[in-house]
Amino acid sequence: MQVLMVASEGAPFVKTGGLADVVGALPAALSPLGVETRVVLPAYPALFPLLPTGKEVARFDDLPGGTGRIVEVTSGGITLFLLDAPQLFDRPGGLYVDEAGKDWTDNHLRFAALSMAGARIAMGAVDGYQPDVLHAHDWQAALAPVYLRMSGRDMPRSVITIHNIAFQGRFGPQVLDRLHLKTDWFHPEGLEFHGDLSFLKGALMFSDRITTVSPTYAREILTPEFGMGLEGVLQARSNVLSGLLNGIDTDAWNPADDAALAETYDVKTLKRKASNRIALSERLGLQVRTDGPLFCVISRLTSQKGLDALLEAVPHLVSRGAQLAVLGTGQPELEQGFRDAAELNPGQVAAYIGYDEPLSHLFQAGSDAILIPSRFEPCGLTQLYGLHYGTLPVVARTGGLADTVIDANVAAIAAKAATGFVFSDVSAVGLAAVIDRVVDAYADTKLWQAMQRAAMRHPVSWESSAKAYRDLYSDLVS
Ligand code: ADP
Repeated sequence: MQVLMVASEGAPFVKTGGLADVVGALPAALSPLGVETRVVLPAYPALFPLLPTGKEVARFDDLPGGTGRIVEVTSGGITLFLLDAPQLFDRPGGLYVDEAGKDWTDNHLRFAALSMAGARIAMGAVDGYQPDVLHAHDWQAALAPVYLRMSGRDMPRSVITIHNIAFQGRFGPQVLDRLHLKTDWFHPEGLEFHGDLSFLKGALMFSDRITTVSPTYAREILTPEFGMGLEGVLQARSNVLSGLLNGIDTDAWNPADDAALAETYDVKTLKRKASNRIALSERLGLQVRTDGPLFCVISRLTSQKGLDALLEAVPHLVSRGAQLAVLGTGQPELEQGFRDAAELNPGQVAAYIGYDEPLSHLFQAGSDAILIPSRFEPCGLTQLYGLHYGTLPVVARTGGLADTVIDANVAAIAAKAATGFVFSDVSAVGLAAVIDRVVDAYADTKLWQAMQRAAMRHPVSWESSAKAYRDLYSDLVS
């Protein structure tokens, strides 16, 4: 079985969030199951060093936004088809935003080009390569199944995975022509979403299968509260919609073998985790303590993540003798809010505003609990890293968070099944209440350690989900 994935980011090459982790890890998990995956990615500057090591395998003169060539390279065990189109991807700034944080004004061209290149490769543009399935990820790749369907072919079959339905790739109808999209497909049963072109809606209408990244989110997006306007489209196609939980790359994230840690540990040597709290505290200027838990946040700082509510709960957290370490970037007012909180609570609250992959590993190892008070969360990965590192997740009851963390209620504690803390009310009051539960549990060393052991034993690898993807692909092709 050959699968061609199309995505706008993939770890360890380029990453802004969980999408990259999935695209980076799933191919390796599929390989032992007989699924060979290749990934189409844009050749951003971070990928330029790979280009000379590869081979040009296709050239397109008529992509939206101009010409592009495909360079095939193998790196870290993944075969990539890099779309080398400097006029679209060779620029400073972020993957999607300029240096001032504003969306690139030609994002419609950039990601339509990526999608079209993916569709062309899927249709045999690379000599000797014919995938059975085209698997597009998120809005940036969402036109790939559309271009495929527009070509009139029904092979390969297509899958779209929604990693976050809040991002839909919505543009004015004037871009249709430049994207080489059929104008007679521009209607509410096709590519149109309230007068605009929606990349994601296109994929939801024209892919053979739709997946998202947890069973709970698959149900949630059928409702107006979570569907972001696409709930009707999804309801109409609910017979092809499923939720497959993300896993984590347990080679890249392994507390027993992680170069970013002060001391490595596993479930049998949990005591050694303590050195990491000391190292993290020293690095951040936090007072070195053990009499209360150290909470961390590793996140985009956005209202999706409920961090405005956490900011309001910081005084309560500190008053209960707990500490807080924040690693993140995002909305300026939240960045400033956490900086202010750190200044107001020296030694007890620290904010590292920035993106730092190795530091995120030390945060996981050095903290006692990780706070994820998201208002919605398609899957979430940081709670999975937390489980694996014995850092108990404190999560809102939504999406993949609800599917992966077992709340420390009386029954779960008695069954030694509890792995974290789940709460429903994302507000300062709700957070204060769950912080109280965590602080109390931390004071009960026996209970805390039992929960850490249960967390570390919780299966978080890709093993079972990779099988579910393999079954989905097989089902599609047969
Ligand atoms: P989302 O995709 O919505 O941002 P996820 O929890 O699915 O959320 O994935 C976020 C990923 O990005 C995780 O791997 C997390 O460790 C990482 N991450 C987020 N912010 C930072 C940061 N400031 N520094 C390092 N890693 C970060």
